[in-house]
Amino acid sequence: MASIDVFTCYTLAGAGSLFGLGLISLVRAESPRVRRALWLYRLAFLCLAGFLWVGTLPVAQRAQGMHAMIGVAAIGASLLAWGFRQLNGQRTPPVLGVALTLGLGSVLWWAGAATSDATFAVVEASVMSFIAVGTLIDQGVLLRRATVRRGGELALLLVAGLFSLDWVLILWHTLHWVGPYPDHLLFAPDWLLPASAVGVGLLPLSVASVVFAIVNDRLNQQLRERALRDDLTGTLSRRGLREHGERMLAGQLAGPSAVRRDTGIAALMMDVDHFKAINDRHGHQVGDEVLRHLSGVMTEHLRDDALLARYGGEEFTVLLPVRSRHDAETVAERLRQAIEAQPCDSRVGRIRVTVSIGVAFHQTAHSLDEVLSRADTRLYEAKQAGRNRVICEPLAA
Ligand code: GH3
Ligand code: MG
Ligand code: MG
Repeated sequence: MASIDVFTCYTLAGAGSLFGLGLISLVRAESPRVRRALWLYRLAFLCLAGFLWVGTLPVAQRAQGMHAMIGVAAIGASLLAWGFRQLNGQRTPPVLGVALTLGLGSVLWWAGAATSDATFAVVEASVMSFIAVGTLIDQGVLLRRATVRRGGELALLLVAGLFSLDWVLILWHTLHWVGPYPDHLLFAPDWLLPASAVGVGLLPLSVASVVFAIVNDRLNQQLRERALRDDLTGTLSRRGLREHGERMLAGQLAGPSAVRRDTGIAALMMDVDHFKAINDRHGHQVGDEVLRHLSGVMTEHLRDDALLARYGGEEFTVLLPVRSRHDAETVAERLRQAIEAQPCDSRVGRIRVTVSIGVAFHQTAHSLDEVLSRADTRLYEAKQAGRNRVICEPLAA
């Protein structure tokens, strides 16, 4: 038998779970999805903390205590897997989650009470392998589909991979075990036992740190996205326009906005006509309603490859890939007409709004600032010419 005291490792696992519980409780999440995941982790760590209780039992009762505790630990491991699904946005029907979690625990309790140690060991290794390999496959499939791969998710895959390898080896050795059966119920050859026991002890800590890293990553990402969005309308903010716009101009934006080499980019500067009068007559809140309405109408009439931003006050900017000057004029005119045709149904009744639009084109040598400033000049001309119209700059050959 290896010199490592497996019960010490179990006690460590219990203490590590309590530590994990504390760590998870420090995490603040706004998204209900992440909050639900955190509750699953808290429950999981509470289950795994039960290992501490086994360590306090008199030696004579430990085997029995272990039978009971391994059922609870399987529930904990299953809750962890459920939590990871939840954290990564995969829906698990609650009925299925509860049935699977309690089912796995019950199978172990039944095996502990009604079968021999040898059978129990096989059931234990099978259940734990099922949970570990299931988590590995589940998260592996998710990570393959993910567009962005972050360190936290990769670390999770590594933990799940090591845990799976450990339990599949234990299962194989358990099936070929000839006895006698150790009372800590971890059936593994001498070379594997220390690693497995340390693995059991360190699992809660590694899981807690991985969860912490993933949630932290998500929060960072949320904050970044929020900084790039306008609070009132949900369109891009000026900063968002700068960030995404620069990339669009450089032809680097992935997905639908990737600009094909043969297309140019048009910038539309749009300003609401006589907006001050709406504010003065109905108040700022109604003015805000009108701004939200306008962004809704524009989003509805723009393709997915366009960038829409609130440039400031009652000014909006659109950057869109176009093939010709005619394309850009058509889109600008379509937006102008749609806004004129769809009044805002506000709390004080229907409010008619019109906009003036200036259009300019990006040609490789020009910066975003320059193209926006040229669109602004055309917008000024549109205002001078009587408002509610589109003025487009000539396209240089
Ligand atoms: P013009 O046709 O020349 O553009 O006339 P205008 O009244 O729209 O022009 P002006 O630039 O004088 O007025 C813009 C107004 O937009 C003034 C400001 O109070 C209002 N405004 C700016 N930001 C907001 C906002 O976030 N909410 C609301 N409700 N009003 C805003
Ligand atoms: Mg203005
Ligand atoms: Mg205005």
